[in-house]
Amino acid sequence: MQTATERFLRYVQIDTQSLPGKDCIPSTEKQKDLARLLVSELQEIGISNAFMDEHGYVYASLPASPGMEQVPAVGFIAHMDTSNAVSGKNVHPQIIRQYDGGDIILNEALNLRLSPDEYPDLKRYEGEDLIVTDGTTLLGADDKAGIAEIMALAELLTTDPSILHGPVKIGFTPDEEVGHGVDLFNLSSFGAEFAYTVDGGLLGELGYETFNAAGLELTVHGVSTHPGSAKGKMKNALLLLMEFHSMLPVFDNPMYTEGYEGFYHLDEMQGNVDQASASYIIRDHDRVSFEARKQQVQEILEYLNRKYGAGTFEAKLEDSYYNMREIIEQHWTLIDHAEEALRTLGYEPVSSAIRGGTDGCRLSFMGLPCPNLCTGGHNFHGRYEYISCQSLEKAVLMLKNILTLYTQD
Ligand SMILES: [Zn+2]
Repeated sequence: MQTATERFLRYVQIDTQSLPGKDCIPSTEKQKDLARLLVSELQEIGISNAFMDEHGYVYASLPASPGMEQVPAVGFIAHMDTSNAVSGKNVHPQIIRQYDGGDIILNEALNLRLSPDEYPDLKRYEGEDLIVTDGTTLLGADDKAGIAEIMALAELLTTDPSILHGPVKIGFTPDEEVGHGVDLFNLSSFGAEFAYTVDGGLLGELGYETFNAAGLELTVHGVSTHPGSAKGKMKNALLLLMEFHSMLPVFDNPMYTEGYEGFYHLDEMQGNVDQASASYIIRDHDRVSFEARKQQVQEILEYLNRKYGAGTFEAKLEDSYYNMREIIEQHWTLIDHAEEALRTLGYEPVSSAIRGGTDGCRLSFMGLPCPNLCTGGHNFHGRYEYISCQSLEKAVLMLKNILTLYTQD
């Protein structure tokens, strides 16, 4: 048996950085290096159906324990790629044994230290063994922690027949960090009724609430004249756009919001007197107030078009995705089991309201209800990323506990 830690240390040394702006999946061929390794490791532990498809997605499934064939098939999903915020090449993980609660020198030459003054969560890990970077790369716990935990679970289930479970489905995806992780995810190859992405942070955190999201593309048609003879004739598109913006609630803005607070966000604007345009995104966890925000935009636009003439403001308002909670609520067992699995390990579950969308959110609306589980990692996408060995192993038990709970329904 290999521990999740041993697996993790091996996987992070394979560069799997994805690249935005590519129109192919995977966006980088090197992601398949890890995919191939995972397939061969799955086959080595006896899961002979494991395979990688042409786009680098890995699928595998474990049959139910004898007598447990009626238990619903539960899936676990993690992504193989790492963020392009910091290099993921030549990752040299360091292990700090029995962390003493003080500063960790990541890199003497670069004078980089990981300090609980800046990252107070470190204090939770006093006495544990921490895996950190050498300060020149990210670590890749996002989401190779999830991969290692699922792989260790797979080995545990194949070597210990006393752990009863229903059918288990495994999926490893490329390109999550560039927003295409589920574009080509094959729900029928995967074959689960429910799934969990294993892609969160602190142990105890569960993610099943995302934003409701819409995009607004606004065009303002002005009338340009010589400024010397503009009286009564000119309609300055730029000023009209500013007028629109000034009618939105000032503090419902990403700069002033957190937790469950929604917003209007001006993402881009350009123009001249003749024509101006702006792109906004609208976000709210609550569906009713999400709809009210869009209604408010429509009312402002109607008022301005009455004031300046029909057609002055043209708008395209489109929904992008919805809060996965509305799907998860119909399958609350997913959350009950995850919470109980965490409590058994001594963690008090907390729902962290995700201020964005997730792959699981998209999967939920594609018909695969899919909340997000914690992996134990911290400070994703950067040099200060870390995870404790003990967290990696506990997360494996969390996954095992979840499967056990499904057999007891
Ligand atoms: Zn991730």
